[in-house]
Amino acid sequence: MPELAEMLRQPAVSQVFVLTDANTGRLCYPLLQPYLPAGHTIIEIPAGEEAKTLASCETVWNELTEQQADRFAVLVNLGGGVVTDLGGFCAALYKRGIRFAQVPTTLLAQVDASIGGKTGVDFQGFKNHLGVFQAPAGVFIDPQFLATLDPRQLKSGYAEVVKHGLIADAAAFREQRSTGMFVDDWTETIQHSVALKQEIVAQDPLESGPRKLLNFGHTVGHALESFLLAQPGREILHGEAVAAGIVCEAWLSVRHGLLSEDELDTIETFLFSVFDKVQFVFLETQAIAEYARQDKKNAGQTINCTLLERIGQGVYNQPVTVAEIADSLRYYHRL
Ligand code: NAD
Repeated sequence: MPELAEMLRQPAVSQVFVLTDANTGRLCYPLLQPYLPAGHTIIEIPAGEEAKTLASCETVWNELTEQQADRFAVLVNLGGGVVTDLGGFCAALYKRGIRFAQVPTTLLAQVDASIGGKTGVDFQGFKNHLGVFQAPAGVFIDPQFLATLDPRQLKSGYAEVVKHGLIADAAAFREQRSTGMFVDDWTETIQHSVALKQEIVAQDPLESGPRKLLNFGHTVGHALESFLLAQPGREILHGEAVAAGIVCEAWLSVRHGLLSEDELDTIETFLFSVFDKVQFVFLETQAIAEYARQDKKNAGQTINCTLLERIGQGVYNQPVTVAEIADSLRYYHRL
């Protein structure tokens, strides 16, 4: 955090705004406050994925406008992936772009959402449907924030850690299988995941090639998440949907002749030792699969999925059909 304080002290910074949600305002802001300059303005949005909307962006843009923020203002996004995605999006669009700093406070945002410059909001029930690529001025990660995080949220972030191992680092996945979530200090796990994601993003910042590897588990995961979020009372966390998506897409990898049955079994056994099964009924599988038609990796009618060639080696641009996705959900349902 001293690095953030130094950045905000620079003369080129006219005003500092801090975006929080209801929880991070209460639990995380006190830890950050000593590093912020006097006279900063706090903007708060409601907590949770339901608030990742254009309406919340208006709250942010209204406040920036009322406080006469100029193009030298900096927006500090203090929160999980919802706040870092939405705050980055708001900053990228306000007066054609002001600088923003990411201070991620969930494991998911520390290992994934705050890294790589993807920003955005949900729209008409579709995840991250509106967004831009915009690099932050800095990402400031402090595992201390995780102390107040709900265990279910911690687990949700862990799904992205597992995904990183599966697509690019077999040794990391082996290590994860041996320690599971019995980790006292997340520092090393975070550093490892961040380095892995940064390396992939550096090769392909705008996701026309290898960056698609990071979408493993997300074609089915996003479809499941969007479907359940559209139904009141059936909430699901992002990482929980991704964990289910990983099992489904590992199964699709076997079906496409890439992964072995043994490796699928290893992945499933590990994921079910950490994550509860996501609940949906058999009859819903087709409707869930239909959501994949909106996936951002698609070209025309083709659904382009990232699959696994083996544990530790992903492969992108693998065409799959909606029918196959529905089959993978039926497989998951039967487990
Ligand atoms: P989130 O931002 O909703 O945070 C989860 C919950 O934890 C919220 O209720 C929040 O208020 C609370 N919280 C946050 N930090 C806390 C803390 N330190 N102590 C106590 N409570 C705290 O969700 P998330 O899981 O962090 O992020 C999910 C979002 O990230 C999704 O919208 C997803 O699309 C996005 N995402 C983006 C990228 C990307 O590359 N941009 C990658 C992965 C995920």
